[in-house]
Amino acid sequence: MSLLTGPGREHLNGHKDETLHNDIVLVKPKKEVFVPLNNGSSTKVDVYVNEGDKVFVGTLLARRNDHFNVPIYSPVSGVVGAKKNMMHSVLKPQEHLIIEDDGKYEKVESFKPLDYTTATHDELVNFMMEAGIVGCGGAGFPSYLKYKKPENINTLIINAVECEPYITADYRFTKESLEDTVLGVKALLKMSTAPKAIVAIKKTKKELIAQLKEAFKTESNIQVFETPDVYPMGWERTLVYEYCKKRYNRLPSEIGIIVNNITTAIAFARSLKYGEGIVEKVVTFSGDGLKNPTNVRVPYGTKVSEVVAQIGGYSSEDVLVIAGGPMMGKTIPTDEFVITNYTNAITILKNNPVEAMECMRCGRCNDACPAGLLPVRINNAEKMKDINWMTQLRADQCIECGLCTYVCPSKIDVTEGVRRAKRALALKKG
Ligand code: SF4
Ligand code: SF4
Repeated sequence: MSLLTGPGREHLNGHKDETLHNDIVLVKPKKEVFVPLNNGSSTKVDVYVNEGDKVFVGTLLARRNDHFNVPIYSPVSGVVGAKKNMMHSVLKPQEHLIIEDDGKYEKVESFKPLDYTTATHDELVNFMMEAGIVGCGGAGFPSYLKYKKPENINTLIINAVECEPYITADYRFTKESLEDTVLGVKALLKMSTAPKAIVAIKKTKKELIAQLKEAFKTESNIQVFETPDVYPMGWERTLVYEYCKKRYNRLPSEIGIIVNNITTAIAFARSLKYGEGIVEKVVTFSGDGLKNPTNVRVPYGTKVSEVVAQIGGYSSEDVLVIAGGPMMGKTIPTDEFVITNYTNAITILKNNPVEAMECMRCGRCNDACPAGLLPVRINNAEKMKDINWMTQLRADQCIECGLCTYVCPSKIDVTEGVRRAKRALALKKG
């Protein structure tokens, strides 16, 4: 059965003004970075450096070498330290490689830059793989796989929707990188083999829409597509449906579409121009648990605690630290974890525990679910540990958007119950 795009779409209070209008602030680690060698799903990582080795920004440190091929480049210059197991934003401890930062940021070219206009399709795909370009919108999926064998692709969708509350990193980064945006989108369009691309962005972002239209005005095959200001419009399925009113089973390529985040296009442009991988990230640090919500540009591998300290600290002693946005992010029980090369947001909220009440069977969570699921029933099945019922209710199709919790008048954390059900099904599958 295909995963339906359910009716659920909500206009949420965006809380974006807290960071939308301010420039990105540069933050550097104080002493060391911790380079994640695993993102929770890698099964084989080859490390090429040893303790004591001198490295530069861009030195190849390691390579994920299982079913994916993803090189890992150093975000700072300095000396390789030990390996350390520490908390990761996937909410599991993972192995990290310590690099003692010498503060000089001396760079090496990680690979030769490439002129995409003369490169062949295969050269571009190999280049993207060597550059280690991953989905920068928070997913971290290796991008080259989307372009490896494009067949009958009719549209490339560049996702600039950024629909979760608080997050403005894509907006600010794109505003400050329009030239790279154009280069990246044109290069991705060539790789996709599609005749046209659209840049999808919420209609409320008037200023950036005008800048993008101006930037692409000579490109007749690249259009700006304005979407409604609802959540989860940035979810691939919702966005694809909004654009062409079509649904798919597993991948949008089944209906001739490839989707990539706009900051992935910018990262790709930088790799083409400068021969560099993703060694730093623009990340929104926002939420009422921070004194000064800020968009930061930071070498990946920097600890969240260090960034928070450098932008002014917490506004409360009791905060929730969320890797990602408040709807889809994961609450991490510590701030001693690092920015990865695909982190787009850290949300810090004051911890105001609310007492959940009895379910009043209002059905709002069911109405809100964009994946067409019945979250309240999945929650009940999970409470009863009834795996068959969880399977019938397709708990594995939950995208963890958080809407069922958001709309619940009884303040029940429905999403958490569905997440547990999803994990139970994944464990059963093995
Ligand atoms: S978190 Fe899952 S179950 Fe809840 S509304 Fe989102 S997709 Fe549906
Ligand atoms: S929204 Fe909350 S109260 Fe209403 S049915 Fe769902 S879980 Fe129950």
